[in-house]
Amino acid sequence: MRYTTVLSVLTVGLTMTSLPARAQTAEQQARFDQLSQLYADAGVIGDPDMVDCTLSGGEETLCIQITTGPAPTNHVTGPYCPRTINDPAEESGTWFFNDKVVAADGAFIKNLAVLFQDDEWQMYDADTGKVILVDGNLGCDVAGDPDSASEYTNYCVECAVSNLSEDTSETYVIPLVPVAAQDGQAARIGPSPGVGLAFNGVKLDAPAPLDLIEGNHTLGLMDSCVGHVNPHTGYHYHGLVGCEPQVAAPVEMHTALVAVAMDGYDIYAALGNTDRAGLDMCNGHSEDGLGYHYHSDAAGSNQFIGCFTAQYGCTSGDPTASCDASADARRGPPPAPE
Ligand SMILES: [Zn+2]
Ligand SMILES: [Zn+2]
Repeated sequence: MRYTTVLSVLTVGLTMTSLPARAQTAEQQARFDQLSQLYADAGVIGDPDMVDCTLSGGEETLCIQITTGPAPTNHVTGPYCPRTINDPAEESGTWFFNDKVVAADGAFIKNLAVLFQDDEWQMYDADTGKVILVDGNLGCDVAGDPDSASEYTNYCVECAVSNLSEDTSETYVIPLVPVAAQDGQAARIGPSPGVGLAFNGVKLDAPAPLDLIEGNHTLGLMDSCVGHVNPHTGYHYHGLVGCEPQVAAPVEMHTALVAVAMDGYDIYAALGNTDRAGLDMCNGHSEDGLGYHYHSDAAGSNQFIGCFTAQYGCTSGDPTASCDASADARRGPPPAPE
């Protein structure tokens, strides 16, 4: 596998500096091969690569680098904002309400003031019933800049994949073998690097900043797959409802593998309420045949896992950037886009 990579690098005329400085262990090579398989249908741009990386705790190790485009490979995206207060759920998106994913249809928009017990909500024209909307390229600008939300009070914000430039991509650099956090402290989930990557190339993103969004009386509604679009990442999930590819677990009676977390541990589908009690604060546990892994939270919780048990890698909009997550971890997270 390494030999193949060397050849392809030489063929496209890149310098040898893009090759990792350290030799991989058998465990790292096996994981690289396994992940390359799992992401075979993820719309990977180029090929998965094995690269040097510096993880959030400063550990220098080997990572897999995967670049994906802005759209899922296995399902359509949208719709998001209803156009009128009469539009049914099938022509509308979703939002979180009381820890559930609910239809954000015309009636939802009409009833916002009642639902949130806040008279400042008025996201439709009372005379025409039209939903007040910012979409197209401007919608993407607003979705990508949380500070601009205050200028779009009572707008439904919509950014579609078709509004993005074709070269929009996100590059994920994920440790091949998880490395424990240096101080034993689990790392909290921030906008950078997000949570993980599903096998259709879609990012599992950090929690949407609901307080900020709802406090500004804007809504960046999600679609029925609990995903929406910003110009940095493209389409990304804020919950898992089965739109993501599911890979059977290698042990019986276990939920399906759905993603890999940015610290290199696997993420399996959600557990029922009773089984969830055995999970740690990050939503992880160890099981025979699987080792340590996470289970995603129920959709509607606005999070996938509670924290990272191990040191995390990087995501970047620049496929040529090298990964030093320790710099990011020291700086702290920037404000989250929607
Ligand atoms: Zn499990
Ligand atoms: Zn989002």
